[in-house]
Amino acid sequence: MIKHLHICFAKEKSDSEGDVKLGKLYVIGIGPGSISHMTIRAMDAIKESNIVVGYNKYIDMIKPLLAGKEIFSTGMKGEEERCKRALELSNNKVVSIVSTGDSGIYGMAGLIHQLRVDEEVEVIPGVTASSAAASVLGAPLMHDNCNISLSDLMTPYELIQKRVKLAAEGDFVISLYNPKSTGRPHYLRESIDIIRKYRIGTTPIAVVKNALRVGQAVRISTLDSFDDEIVDMLSIVIIGNSQSYVKDGKFITPRGYKV
Ligand code: SAH
Repeated sequence: MIKHLHICFAKEKSDSEGDVKLGKLYVIGIGPGSISHMTIRAMDAIKESNIVVGYNKYIDMIKPLLAGKEIFSTGMKGEEERCKRALELSNNKVVSIVSTGDSGIYGMAGLIHQLRVDEEVEVIPGVTASSAAASVLGAPLMHDNCNISLSDLMTPYELIQKRVKLAAEGDFVISLYNPKSTGRPHYLRESIDIIRKYRIGTTPIAVVKNALRVGQAVRISTLDSFDDEIVDMLSIVIIGNSQSYVKDGKFITPRGYKV
């Protein structure tokens, strides 16, 4: 059905403008990093693509799917260049631009749509880091929860701190993305200090590094005993709400069922 609409659109364009548009841009979330956790739709779109665009490390994660394809990859902070290139190439080729996790969560979908919105751009969702980490931990996100990125590249630190405070006050389970980098080593510690004003010291907190991909490591502790030593940019940190607890090594946030 969608394919049919797509063909009609291309034909209409050729009638009115004499210019057949053959291109397509898939904005793909590849999931946490192992091919078995990608969606079938994401895999099919990559198979269909002539060109795949992405950050070097993400391209490496899907290498087995890329035989015979043209690759355009750049290093960190090359997001704008990658998006513009992908849009350009998609004028007459089938192109996939890939993000890890979900492309709509700190991924490429936003910038692509800011630059262009039309029928030829399709966003394909993926398993985001908080869901991947939650599956490893047990069921920590079972009630209302939110994502906060501690990266100040796009967001002023004062606003990040305000969001951490309000999420803590609102008793949300909190997933911290981009939790710690060498350029801002104290933000995580300072965020935990804010959260501690609203949560008791026994509240569970977990670090999951490389969730559902090679190098996975998990540490569950409490706000009182939390040590941020192992946390880096390959990790996500999840802080429980006032009802969360740990049982037999699993981090659980009850939803309200009486058991
Ligand atoms: N679009 C991605 C997020 C990109 S921001 C998504 O939806 O998951 C990058 C941050 O995501 C990292 O610093 C880390 O905090 C988190 N992250 C991404 N993949 C992860 C994984 N497999 N394990 C743990 N954290 C991950």
